[in-house]
Amino acid sequence: MIKVLASGSKGNCYTVQAGGEILLLECGIGWKDILKGLNFDLSKVVGCLITHEHKDHCKAVNEVMKAGIDIYMSEGTAAGIEFKNHIYDYRVNTVKDDIFHVGNFKVLPFRVQHDTNEPLGFLIYHKDIGKIVFVTDTYYLKYVFHNADHILVECNYSERDIKDLPDYKVRVLKSHLSLETLQESLMLWDLEKTKTITLIHLSEANGDPEYFKEEIEFTTGKRTFIAVPGLEVK
Ligand SMILES: [Zn+2]
Ligand SMILES: [Zn+2]
Repeated sequence: MIKVLASGSKGNCYTVQAGGEILLLECGIGWKDILKGLNFDLSKVVGCLITHEHKDHCKAVNEVMKAGIDIYMSEGTAAGIEFKNHIYDYRVNTVKDDIFHVGNFKVLPFRVQHDTNEPLGFLIYHKDIGKIVFVTDTYYLKYVFHNADHILVECNYSERDIKDLPDYKVRVLKSHLSLETLQESLMLWDLEKTKTITLIHLSEANGDPEYFKEEIEFTTGKRTFIAVPGLEVK
């Protein structure tokens, strides 16, 4: 099961539960909210993947490490994060584009395109939940993913809605994934085995949840969800 604790520019955190293990995706909310989302039980948490150093993706990183959870990110992201002290440095695992294991999860990181050092997306596999594509904060999807069971993907704004925005606002949006770019990408992916698509990291001011959901369902024919806190995807 995939659970959304938070999604969007104010904070991102998701859990993937499979085979009695929990993998955290991002920790960009307050530590207390993460604890609450885990029902105050850290015993099943095997690790935390972090895509990049923006605070909405790693706000609680120091507390996560202090709680005994290993974190996984690129070298560039690690360099961009403010670690409070260095007592827990041994919890930081820097990854390149090779498969690594976190508990019984297999993870393949891949590069995405964003305004940070070395942002990553993750292809995650666990035998009890299958293949999950997790990709956010990227203006472009360079890779094609076939037959993912679940897709968690950014759908930040629509080109339709930003025509009259001032330039500085458009610049911020342009480091994120638009509905139209996502649609073009998904058309290239083989989705035959895909069970769900969850749209994450919608722009607060320029996102249109109902429209995005309809459009993606129309393009893909797949069950599509909007990531809101508490959403559970199976
Ligand atoms: Zn973000
Ligand atoms: Zn970002």
